[in-house]
Amino acid sequence: MSTLYLVGTPIGNLEDMTFRAVRILQEVDVIACEDTRVTGKLTHHYDIKTPLKSYHEHNKDKMTAVLVAMLEEGKSIALVSDAGLPLISDPGYELVTAVRDSGLSVVTVPGPNAALTALMTSGLSSYSFLFNGFLPRKESEKLAKLKLLMEQPHSILLYESPYRIKDTLTTIATVDEQRKVALARELTKRYEQVVTLPVGELLLKLEEDIPLKGEFVVVIDGQYDSIQQEQWWDALSLNAHVDHYI
Ligand code: SAM
Repeated sequence: MSTLYLVGTPIGNLEDMTFRAVRILQEVDVIACEDTRVTGKLTHHYDIKTPLKSYHEHNKDKMTAVLVAMLEEGKSIALVSDAGLPLISDPGYELVTAVRDSGLSVVTVPGPNAALTALMTSGLSSYSFLFNGFLPRKESEKLAKLKLLMEQPHSILLYESPYRIKDTLTTIATVDEQRKVALARELTKRYEQVVTLPVGELLLKLEEDIPLKGEFVVVIDGQYDSIQQEQWWDALSLNAHVDHYI
């Protein structure tokens, strides 16, 4: 049966590829990818000979129709992004909607994700979290968004570029200088670094101790007061009880 596979690929360490991901990429008729040069390195490493087709932010409307037509002809397609999971701050959502609307099958082959890898390593609460991807670039919009996010009783996960990371941490500090923030850099790679500190202290470590190079995830501690913490614990123990009951 023709299927669209959403395949997770490494976020930096080529060994983080599942056996199933390799097999699916070998078996499908076409791999739709953001940048054929980036995915070409991965397929070369795993000796995958499947043809690559580009599917990215700027051609996705046209390519969605092309890929749905291929599935309707009985072909199978794998969608990958440059790194990590497709659709997560990466293209693919419109394609999945179109494929499902056409009554065709969609299967995810899970893999690494930078936000979750950062959260797991950070030491900040993983009970409840809010993923926001990239913040707006305009300073006033960024500040407004951060104020809103930083009122929530959840860990906040953000992606940021090395060019804007200092500005973003400075904006976080203007909202709450004492708030604990984890900066996760170059995850799964040789110079991986995850530092968790009040954001005011984190800013002092930038450049000398934390080079502004590579890829970054920011995890902001949630705004918890004792009542909210209690409510979360109640909700969690209720879930545990229900699971146990079932
Ligand atoms: N789809 C990807 C995923 O599942 O994680 C995210 C794609 S998004 C366009 C790229 C951003 O993810 C980068 O700008 C950076 O913020 C983050 N990122 C990706 N790889 C990373 C890594 N190895 N270490 C830290 N952050 C990373």
